[in-house]
Amino acid sequence: MEFMTTTSSGTPGVNTNVTRAVQAYPTDEVPGSRATQVRPVPEGWQQQKDAEGRPLLQFAAPKKGMPPTHLADIPTVDRKAYVASLGFPGFRAAQLGTHYFVHHTNDPSAMTDLPAASRDDLVAKVLPPLLTEVRRLQTDSGDTIKFLWKLHDGALIESVLMRYPGRVTLCVSSQAGCGMNCPFCATGQAGLTRNMSAAEIVEQVVLANRALAHGELGGRARHDHTPDRVGNIVFMGMGEPLANYARLMQAVRTMLAPAPDGLGMSARGITISTVGLVPAIRKLAEEGLPVTFALSLHAPDDELRDELIPVNSRWKVDEALNAARDYFDKTGRRVSIEYALIKDMNDHGWRADLLAAKLNNRGRGWVHVNPIPLNPTPGSIWTASEPAVQREFVRRLEVAGVPTTIRDTRGRDIDGACGQLAAAD
Ligand code: SAH
Repeated sequence: MEFMTTTSSGTPGVNTNVTRAVQAYPTDEVPGSRATQVRPVPEGWQQQKDAEGRPLLQFAAPKKGMPPTHLADIPTVDRKAYVASLGFPGFRAAQLGTHYFVHHTNDPSAMTDLPAASRDDLVAKVLPPLLTEVRRLQTDSGDTIKFLWKLHDGALIESVLMRYPGRVTLCVSSQAGCGMNCPFCATGQAGLTRNMSAAEIVEQVVLANRALAHGELGGRARHDHTPDRVGNIVFMGMGEPLANYARLMQAVRTMLAPAPDGLGMSARGITISTVGLVPAIRKLAEEGLPVTFALSLHAPDDELRDELIPVNSRWKVDEALNAARDYFDKTGRRVSIEYALIKDMNDHGWRADLLAAKLNNRGRGWVHVNPIPLNPTPGSIWTASEPAVQREFVRRLEVAGVPTTIRDTRGRDIDGACGQLAAAD
């Protein structure tokens, strides 16, 4: 009843807005209070369990199904020797790199600088086709495309191409499926099929650049001067990138390498997002690459995060946050904390306060928070927080001095938003 107190509305000096906010959102909620707490449980599907009855975590991926070796799988310093080992002059590596990374082509008939007699054989061996388009969906406004790709073994993956004012971003997959088993994520529901190769990861970008070069992504007129090239990559598609570490790094290095070795992208434009595999976060910090690091936290307390992010059974909230803070110290790159706001599950005011306290305990200026309204996967408990609750959550973080930006949920109408990539076809 304390939240129903009548305000002295109309009295000069009394800020009735603040009073209303207090009425709607009890500011004195504490853990265990009467605030509603919905517990995370999968609905409409069965979460796979391990021998102890806990949600199954798949770190090791099946070996079967990996594609043929491609130029982008080979470290740049080894490519000449690799092409020579196939029986061709080593300098063909650079020619093929230009065709592939600059002109987005692996079509031998377009490669008139190569000898006609051996062209088909060379290209088939060095640039084997990896991704076949199955389907694409475009938003009504035209500035978002979701691609569904088939890999050579039939596995399906997705990527999402988005135009923003002044930039083009591609959300890429790093695994077919995912072994992290988060109960709110569509990708996790089917488990892990296999790791993607470095070249399969890179080819998503090459083919997005090809689509851009052909004018297939809309919205250019509205967003004047947008470059027609992918400038930003977010590893927020299917899979846990840090569970596929070596191939992820080879893919990132190829994205960064200048032509003809790679896509010539900037490390700052690449965001690697993880559930929180702490040893791999620490390894990433040592790579000397100023990529952006994002931690999918989604809860500041172990009690809830144990259920929301099953890998929390291995590495707790504080360990993951310590690794994130160390990432900042090593790289100077401000870390992102991702927080999907789920109605009555993790959106309580006290959780915003606890999150702010845990971040501030580790210093200032090293982190920002990206809340995102949950994209519902089917099931009644998995619902986005109310807009007013979202605002209150953000307000508390900001009051505590934590920079916070709500992330947009581009592509919802084509099931292309975060956590919606499931490759059901
Ligand atoms: N495995 C990595 C990257 C893939 S998911 C990771 O977990 O970070 C990218 C982001 O989308 C993660 O923050 C993930 O938690 C979030 N996500 C998953 N399902 C979602 C959903 N239904 N709504 C909103 N975000 C979701």
